[in-house]
Formats: sequence, C-alpha cells, structure tokens
Amino acid sequence: MQDKLRRLPGVDKLLAMIGQDREVGGLPHQLVVGALRQVVEDARRRLMANQDTSVSPEALTASAKDILVHATRPSFIKVVNAAGVALHTNLGRAPLSARARARLADIISGYSTLEYNLATGERGTRYFHVTQKICQLTGAEDALAVNNNAAAILLALSALTEGREVIVSRGQLVEIGGSFRVPDVLQQSGAKLVEVGTTNKTHLGDYAAAIGPNTAAILKVHTSNYRIIGFTAQPEDAALVKLAHEHGLPVIDDLGSGTLIPVNRGGWREPTAAERLAAGTDIVTFSGDKLLGSSQAGIIAGKKQYLEKMRAHPLLRAIRIDKLSLAALEGTLLDYLVGEPRQDVPIQRMLNMSEAELTAKAGLLAEQLGGLKVNGWQVKIAPVASQAGGGALPGIDLPSYGVSVSCRGKTAAKLERELRQRPLPIIARIIDDWVVFDVRCLAPEDMAEIKVACMAIAAGREP
Ligand SMILES: *Cc1c(COP(=O)(O)O)cnc(C)c1O
Repeated sequence: MQDKLRRLPGVDKLLAMIGQDREVGGLPHQLVVGALRQVVEDARRRLMANQDTSVSPEALTASAKDILVHATRPSFIKVVNAAGVALHTNLGRAPLSARARARLADIISGYSTLEYNLATGERGTRYFHVTQKICQLTGAEDALAVNNNAAAILLALSALTEGREVIVSRGQLVEIGGSFRVPDVLQQSGAKLVEVGTTNKTHLGDYAAAIGPNTAAILKVHTSNYRIIGFTAQPEDAALVKLAHEHGLPVIDDLGSGTLIPVNRGGWREPTAAERLAAGTDIVTFSGDKLLGSSQAGIIAGKKQYLEKMRAHPLLRAIRIDKLSLAALEGTLLDYLVGEPRQDVPIQRMLNMSEAELTAKAGLLAEQLGGLKVNGWQVKIAPVASQAGGGALPGIDLPSYGVSVSCRGKTAAKLERELRQRPLPIIARIIDDWVVFDVRCLAPEDMAEIKVACMAIAAGREP
C-alpha cells in the first residue's frame, strides 16, 4: 500500500495526459483539474482504507474523463416512452401539441407581450393571455393560471379562508406524491382542517353538522390515485353546493387532473371542469400537464368575487406561471378552442386510440423489428394494459398492444437496461422475461428509434 501511495501520480502529470484527449482535453482548466483532484483523492482514500485500486495514470485519467463527460453533458434529455403510461410524471407528463410547441418556439426566440398591452403601450398582465380562453372553455366568470395545481390550491385556500375552518371529507384526505398531502397544504395555507364523514361514506348531513360561525369553505379533492369502491357515498355536487351557498360559503374543488372534454374510459367517467362549474361549484383547480395535455401549470377557474381575492393575494406573485409554460398553455387552449383536441393534443390522442389503431401500430413495429429474428431474437405482438397515469383514471387499465422482444443470451433485465442507457433512452417494461414496447405513446419516429436501438444492441455496438 505504501508503495502504491508513493506511485500515485500528481495532478500535473495527469493534466498533461488528459490535455491530449479530443473529447475533454479542451474543457475549462478548472473543471479538468477538479476532476483529476477528485480521482487522485479517491484513489488515495481507497488505498488508505486498504482497498485495492489502480494507480496507473491511464486508469486515473480514464476515471477523470468519465466524470468530465457526465458533468458536462445534459442529463435532462428526451426519452422514448414505451412504458405505456401516458401521463408518466417521471417522464415529464404530457407531451406538447404542435400548436403549443410552435407558440413556445416563437416566444422563446426573443421578446414578447408577456406583460405588455399593445393597444395602450402600457403594462399589461400575463394572465390576460389565458383568462378569457379558460373562461370560454369552462364557462367560468374568471380564471387564472399559476405555477402548478398544488400552488393553485394553496392560493385558493390562502386567499379565501384567512385562517378559518375548511371542511373536507375523510374519504378525500389525499396524498398525491412528492409530499403533497391535503392536510399539510391546508395547514400551510393557515386554514384549519375540519374532517367529516368516514373513509368510505360522507353524507350531506355530515357537512351540514360541521358548518359553524368559523367555517370559510368546503373543499373537495379528487381521489386521483386510488378508488374507494363498494359501500361508498359522497353527496352530489349540486346538493353540496346548495348547502354551502345557504351558509354563504364557497365550494372549492381540486379536480386534480381535470378535463375540458368528457373522458369516458373503462367504466370511469371524469366530469369536465365546465360540468363542475355548471353545478354551482365556486372554484375549480386543475393541472395544466395532466389530461389537459399542456405544460406544467395550475388552472383556477370560477366566480369573479373569489378570483379577485386571489389576484390581490401576495402569494400569487410567488407562484406565478413562467412565460415558457404560459406560451405552451395558450397554444393548447387554442387547440381546444379552435382545433380538434382529440386529434391535436397528444395526450388526448393517446387515450382515445382505437383498438384498430393500436393493432396497426403494433403490427408496424413488429414488422420493423422482424429483421432481428436472424440474430436470435424473438419478436411477438402481445396484448398489454396501459395506464393514463398522472392521477387520471385511477386504477383503470386501458387495453393496448405491445411488441415483446427477447434476445438469446441476454436477460430481459439486461436488455431493458441497455435500451435505457442509449443516447436516446428507450423506457420499456419487462413482462415475464420479455421486454415489452407498449405502442400507445409511441410516435412514428420513436418506432424508428426502437429499431435502430435494437439493431445496434443485436450487433453488439456500443452506443
Ligand atoms: C396531481 C394533483 C395535484 C397536484 O397537481 P400539480 O399540477 O402536479 O401540482 C393536486 N391535487 C390532485 C387531486 C392531483 O391529482
């Protein structure tokens, strides 16, 4: 060990070596020296701990190169979603429509009317670009868009409840993930939670009994990631609204995913934001990047008297929507207003895909991969179940088709990993020792990429 410690090369020597490297030799001096110091230090520490490690200059510069390549390459990159989860939160939820992408590209290329009123030449508001469009699509009197739906609920509760009580059914005390829990959000807003009913059943009378002089609002929360089935009850929207209004209280409904057009899949019917508002709900909030199919945003729509309080609340500034999201959101809202949302908005197209379309896509992909069979691969079409994901259509399987592949001499886990580690990563599922590409979320260029990737893996080429 002492001998090895003595042979540990100095950073200067390694620097001269790595300087010759085509890929990382030209990187800023500071970065390169930092990486070299790190590998020398790591090697020293391992030697001191009596662990075996190479101290050859070649091995050390190779490790430093690895560090540099990873540190200077973007890690936030595009992937192919062959997992069949349409609103995959980890894969960025909704892909944008052509119109949303065009709006985004236009806005980010220079300056814009973000908060500028062209008619008067004076300051305008960023909300102007979406408020009227949301109102037209939902029938609301007024609307706002903020950073995301979590922020939308926080704002609604903070502005409308002012530290007073908010009544919530025990069946709707949801945890969405990423530590968004309804009781915590209520607490953060300063409101006091009053739980009513039981996990499975909450009656109108439970709400009525909880209303007191200190009540500020009734909050409903979409049970986005679970379903309570069996012996269950929740009052109808109209009855709950009537009760609230008799006491001068607003009903705030966190729709979670929300939807602008009816969704009716696998026995699950998701009411639209417009239906909720038409039933008298005072405020609805929902996400921009779930079923709406746009950028990350939180939509707040409802009665003007309440929206005005939110506009005046200081929290609005802290959670305001940024111009990139706003550009995409306006484009998507236009898809719903003047386009064909079931065709134009990718997430809608994916969820509404017919059996015939799915089998045709699977047939095409299987054909493209057919050439692999000479390399000892097996390729077959198999029925699979996709999911909407993102807290939409909880627990509902969407019948879909996948192309399953297996490759002689390689486990499914290894193949799945190699696909995932491609320059354009392909995210697939493993079912019964097969790697499965669910075709629901694949664009034509994704299928071509899957073919390229499989061919490269079959030929044993490094990415
Ligand atoms: C997804 C979801 C949220 C959070 O929405 P984000 O836009 O991700 O902030 C809040 N409430 C419900 C019921 C949800 O499903």
